Amino acid sequence: MAASLPPCLLAPPFNDASRAHLRRLDAGWARLLRGEKPPSVLQRVGPATLPATDRDVDVVYAGGGVALLHALAMQKRGWQTLLFDRRAVGQTHREWNITRRELDALVQAGLFDWPALETVVAREYEGGFIQFHDPHGPPIHVELPHVLDLALDATALLTLARRHYEAAGGIVWEGQSFEQAWLATDGLPRVVVQLRDAQSQPQRIGAKLLVNGMGALSPLSLALAGDGLPFDGVCPTVGTVARGFAAGEVDPTVGEILLTLDGAKDERQFVWEGFPAGGDAFTTYLFYYDITAGRADNPHSLIELYVDYFERLATYKRPGPDFAHLRPVYGFIPARHHVDGPAPQQARTARGLLSVGDAAARQNPLTFTGFGSFVRHLPRATAQLDELLRNDALDAETLATLSAAQQNLAPLWVMARFLSPRGYPDSVNSILRDFARVMDEIGPKRSAAFFRDETALLDYLAIKLRMARHRPKVFGEALATLGARGLAQWGEDIVRWGATQSN
Ligand SMILES: Cc1cc2nc3c(=O)[nH]c(=O)nc-3n(C[C@H](O)[C@H](O)[C@H](O)COP(=O)(O)OP(=O)(O)OC[C@H]3O[C@@H](n4cnc5c(N)ncnc54)[C@H](O)[C@@H]3O)c2cc1C
Repeated sequence: MAASLPPCLLAPPFNDASRAHLRRLDAGWARLLRGEKPPSVLQRVGPATLPATDRDVDVVYAGGGVALLHALAMQKRGWQTLLFDRRAVGQTHREWNITRRELDALVQAGLFDWPALETVVAREYEGGFIQFHDPHGPPIHVELPHVLDLALDATALLTLARRHYEAAGGIVWEGQSFEQAWLATDGLPRVVVQLRDAQSQPQRIGAKLLVNGMGALSPLSLALAGDGLPFDGVCPTVGTVARGFAAGEVDPTVGEILLTLDGAKDERQFVWEGFPAGGDAFTTYLFYYDITAGRADNPHSLIELYVDYFERLATYKRPGPDFAHLRPVYGFIPARHHVDGPAPQQARTARGLLSVGDAAARQNPLTFTGFGSFVRHLPRATAQLDELLRNDALDAETLATLSAAQQNLAPLWVMARFLSPRGYPDSVNSILRDFARVMDEIGPKRSAAFFRDETALLDYLAIKLRMARHRPKVFGEALATLGARGLAQWGEDIVRWGATQSN
């Protein structure tokens, strides 16, 4: 297996498990971009033809990432839940930054109290900044406090959640792959889910509701997408948690939220992020923005991105004499761009089937903070679901109201399009610099609100007007980049947002 991997992946912090996982993610993502769908993953049948089950619960969860937090909330509300994952539950291959105020949603949702949550906080910063490369001078640097300023130990959080979940009577099955689901088309809500373990033994679980938390490559999200791709945008992201950078390279009190160090090359504008973690550890990410359409013959690859990461890391942070990578962090972070069509299409639900986390991908298409987006909606989504379960009201349209979609994020896909290079090396940086100037002008309160997905319509319009003042050519660029149809969609997104505010 190791033969065709680049040398940088043959040494620690990678091991056989992470190498195999990266290969599986790359292969799965390539299949997704080609529009290949596993056959008969989802069947809609009359209640009388549902298959017999080996076990019955109220809610069955496929995938043990953020869905574990959802399962914990529902278990605590008295529903019998079962969560399965093909890998270990409570392990993750990413870290999460958020703010203390946003994290409080986990307390509001009844999952933990603050003393328990404090045990999984790795670090909290005093400040943060964004900084963008300028080929003609020093980079533009803007302070951005109160954004992603709390680093969680993601594995510790999921381990804590699992402990609470099992203590509350939740059932965890590991090493179980999702294979197929049958959804009852009428009668009382009922689903049957077929899993298969490593020994190829199938099991069938019956429930009222199936929660799809299988991430960016979820076979259920593919099935629900119909003929199209499940996501419009993606940030292929890789990095490591490391320690031992040279003296002065890392300030443990400051989060480095978005940085560019050079111009775009080979149709990619690399963006860095760096977050102090626990002890002297520092988490570094490298990513770029892209769209999913038209990439079938040239798929994104995390393995290839790691080659760029290791080649370039020292241009971002110089290693010291005792430098060591501790663990890899990586993933394809997906985003759906439009709030398009009626509610069921927005949330990609079906009767008895709800998607959460990256399987739903309703996060901000600019910041891709999927954990924050999931957490923010958790208290409302789980309280509402409790009510829907009590009333057996699990039709697609009603389940769609639990979505983490936000009207104020809908128009942001436009800006995400400008973060893919448009023909010249400074194309992305020049717009990022203008954006940073606007953030500086509107001040830390409103710029932080923008990054925390809290922007109000008037502030959004003010940002756009300021952007146009700094960059009069932006309208021409928008027409060239989005086309007339894209511009119309953008206008529609803004009008729909306005309409929800006046309701
Ligand atoms: C490197 C990186 C850093 C990030 N940093 C931040 C951040 O700082 N703040 C933030 O808000 N967001 C961040 N994000 C985004 C955030 O991590 C994701 O949005 C979130 O983790 C999605 O979680 P998930 O549970 O939906 O998906 P995943 O974490 O992908 O979990 C899906 C689970 O489903 C299981 N599964 C998949 N297929 C099957 C199957 N067929 N059968 C059974 N099980 C299956 C998988 O094994 C996995 O456990 C980051 C993402 C990455 C990649």
